[in-house]
Amino acid sequence: MTRRRDEPAPDLSPHMADEVAQTTCYMCACRCGIDVFLKQGADGRKQVSYIQGNRDHPKNRGVLCAKGSAGIMQHLSPARLRKPLRRNGPRGSGEFEEIEWEEALSLATEWLGGIRETDPKRLAFFTGRDQSQSLTSLWAQEFGTPNYAAHGGFCSVNMAAAGIYTMGGAFWEFGAPDWERAKMFMLFGVAEDHDSNPIKLGLSRLKARGAKIVGVNPVRTGYNAIADEWVGITPGTDGLFVLALVHELFGTGRVDVAYLARYTNAGWLLVDAPGTAKHGLFARDADGKALILDRKTGKLVAWDTPGAVPELTVDVTLPDGRTGRPVFQRMAAAYLAEDYAPEAVAARCGVTAATIRRLAAELARVAFEEEIVVERPWTDWLGRRHDRMVGRPVAFHAMRGISAHSNGFQTCRAIHLLQILLGSVECPGGFRFKPPYPKPVEAHPKPHGDTHPCAPLPGPHLGFPAGPEDLLLEADGSAQRIDKAFTWDAPLAVHGMMHMVIANAAEGDPYRIDTLFLYMANMAWNSSMNTGGTAEMLTRADDKGDYVIPHIIYADAYSSETVAYADLVLPDTTYLERHDCISLLDRPISEPDSLADAIRWPVVDPDRDVRGFQSVLIELGARLGLPAFCDAEGGPKYRDYADYMARHERRPGIGPLAGWRGDGTQHGRGAPNPDQVARYRENGGFFTAEIPEEAQFFKPWNAAYQDWAVEMGLIDRPQPYVFQLWSEPLQKFRLAAEGHGEHQPPDHLRARIGDCFSPLPAWYPPFEEAALDPAAYPLHAITQRPAAMYHSWGSQNAWLRQIHGENPLYVPNEVADAAGLADGDWARVTSHHGEIVVPVRRTGACNGHTLWTWNAIGKRKGAWALRPGAPETTKGFLMNHLIHELLPPKGDGRRWTNSDPVTGQAAWFDLRVRIEKAEAPAESLPASTPQRSPVGTGPDDLTYGGKP
Ligand code: SF4
Repeated sequence: MTRRRDEPAPDLSPHMADEVAQTTCYMCACRCGIDVFLKQGADGRKQVSYIQGNRDHPKNRGVLCAKGSAGIMQHLSPARLRKPLRRNGPRGSGEFEEIEWEEALSLATEWLGGIRETDPKRLAFFTGRDQSQSLTSLWAQEFGTPNYAAHGGFCSVNMAAAGIYTMGGAFWEFGAPDWERAKMFMLFGVAEDHDSNPIKLGLSRLKARGAKIVGVNPVRTGYNAIADEWVGITPGTDGLFVLALVHELFGTGRVDVAYLARYTNAGWLLVDAPGTAKHGLFARDADGKALILDRKTGKLVAWDTPGAVPELTVDVTLPDGRTGRPVFQRMAAAYLAEDYAPEAVAARCGVTAATIRRLAAELARVAFEEEIVVERPWTDWLGRRHDRMVGRPVAFHAMRGISAHSNGFQTCRAIHLLQILLGSVECPGGFRFKPPYPKPVEAHPKPHGDTHPCAPLPGPHLGFPAGPEDLLLEADGSAQRIDKAFTWDAPLAVHGMMHMVIANAAEGDPYRIDTLFLYMANMAWNSSMNTGGTAEMLTRADDKGDYVIPHIIYADAYSSETVAYADLVLPDTTYLERHDCISLLDRPISEPDSLADAIRWPVVDPDRDVRGFQSVLIELGARLGLPAFCDAEGGPKYRDYADYMARHERRPGIGPLAGWRGDGTQHGRGAPNPDQVARYRENGGFFTAEIPEEAQFFKPWNAAYQDWAVEMGLIDRPQPYVFQLWSEPLQKFRLAAEGHGEHQPPDHLRARIGDCFSPLPAWYPPFEEAALDPAAYPLHAITQRPAAMYHSWGSQNAWLRQIHGENPLYVPNEVADAAGLADGDWARVTSHHGEIVVPVRRTGACNGHTLWTWNAIGKRKGAWALRPGAPETTKGFLMNHLIHELLPPKGDGRRWTNSDPVTGQAAWFDLRVRIEKAEAPAESLPASTPQRSPVGTGPDDLTYGGKP
């Protein structure tokens, strides 16, 4: 090909870098390895010139997505905060003065120190999408406040809690499909930003092998668009659809009975004594072990008796004369009920009965007729030797789309039940755990909430209750936590309920707080339901004119909407300028065959007066005298976060990083190694250790895996367990609701607990839908995260803004026809809480009863350094304005939280609306009121390396 004479000569071999630094991407939560190309700039400082994927990295193997490569523009974002700020105008105005770090830290220490000396629970410390929760939770625990959590409560706690209570692990960081061997793969409610590169790599491997991919999602974008079959389900009905598949499997006898008998509690005997305090609990022996009826001996024996094989279908008379009924019997009765027949659920799910039947048959055929074998002997925890590993090559993955409903916990349980019935968990071709999982629920701590002045909390805030006795309630029944997690409102709120913090704090319910301390959580905008209401709560004043939340401290790297509501702003660095720890104590990057963790480190120095938040927190901890952050003389124990990463021990020999411990040759367990962070840098920023071949499958029951997990410090003793298809903790809550036991729920919650705490996965209609007239609000409305943006971060990014600078409302063709809407028209969308007027685009790739849009594109004027008139502020919009943190009034004087009743997960996707054509306004409504930007606005052209 020849070049025209007037064309510029391309530089085909540009000098890209003086050096390449390997660290971890943070443009989303996937934690891919990246090579950052660095060049000396005109000012003599190192500058980032290019980012590419690290080919050796276990997470992405060189693959980089659009977000990842646009990290340069995140690093150069005009929205970066530059110096600590103290508010000098009304809250919300964005008026600040810059202050020095010493003044900022002294102010924070003064506010926080006073609280700790008097009443530590008056601090509410909540973090967003940070990846340092093992540090932030330790800090809060040492402070002594019960009020700590990260953003899981409004993200995917249903998925995590359902997984851990059912099978000791969940999807994403903690488990993955066997991409190499699965022959049929179903994904439910997965947006493109979740586990992004690993899923894309996995899907390509499935496609290369000709495996079938089925996407279950109301919206056909991203992964669902490349699936072999798309099931355009109606929001909130995934659980019903899955249980109809279960109905079919039971009806056709296509369940893996041997797997159920061996690896689940299907054979455990339930006390069948309706109306008594033990009904539905396991019959146990004198040692407290659940009993089975051994079909070989005909005797009642403990479930883990070597050689015993449980009867699954025979009722027995227990020694005390009561009837014992195997869990399997209860399952068969529950799931063969006509309520779950395909014909009974089809219309509600938006999936035909024939499709449900066909998919159930396909799942069974692939699982049982295309079984695969890995010729690898292994030994189980009872000493039984197995010659080979037999696999059922059906794998599932699910995420927030099914989770963010008021029936999400049970839906997630139903998906786990389905894959367990097929025998496809932890076998070749199925779903596989990633270290540090699997772990039975009993291996996790209980929640702690007792607080005393100047004293740490007696244990971790967040944990896994086994029954009503573990709730965090005061003697008068009021909540110990500001968000009311672990109360009868949300007993298994294992990630807290961040979406209720500001509302409860503003109401002083259950009590007033003094300081709201937020990190990286845009709670004044896209991370809150009822966005306008939240802004009012953050600025609400009492009779004397004082703010009802007296102090707000906010730490972030960027000038988000929430910055304007802070009294004190602690500016964070970008991800290329600080240390971070992607830890096995938190959310690591392991794979099913290997354990892995990673670091970030400052590949460039900040050019602003900012500090990594984790280092700031460690310094604050020392200033406040928190024991874990002080040395024997009371001075600072750690220099900064890097020092903490290397020297902190959570238990003797166990620290934030697993690799190169002790003298540098020990992994998993070992004394702290001061050179550890340097060793990670030398190794490309990560550490990985292969699981021995014999230990790679059947991990909960595999003796070799259990021993390896102990050796690596994941657990302290072998802890084999079986999957809990019948959840005894849920039954305990139900029994309490029936009036049994010492710990009793308030009367107004008894019926709801009875309905929603089924010990077997069940389905009930989402609460908002049940509370509203379906004729008035006939449509569902949801958001979907795009592949090219992660939450609100992308709208400051010059490259990513070009992909999603605005977000139309996508309207199914049939709904658009009925409303007379054409592309480019505007529509009014109304919920029980509010209305928006927004631009419309028609679509055929969507469930016919569902409106949708991209998440978090709309921005408030003045935020994110966007220039006046930026499309994000004029055409972009948020669905959040339509969603309330409370359900519609029921007429009994109470408003229930818009949450899952089991876990407290925010039910974002329960939203019901109506739509009508509207006159085009000047901009999307509600139009945001401007904030003053503490960082000014960005230039017209943002350039790097001299080129736009
Ligand atoms: S998926 Fe993309 S944005 Fe997310 S960590 Fe990987 S490269 Fe970065």
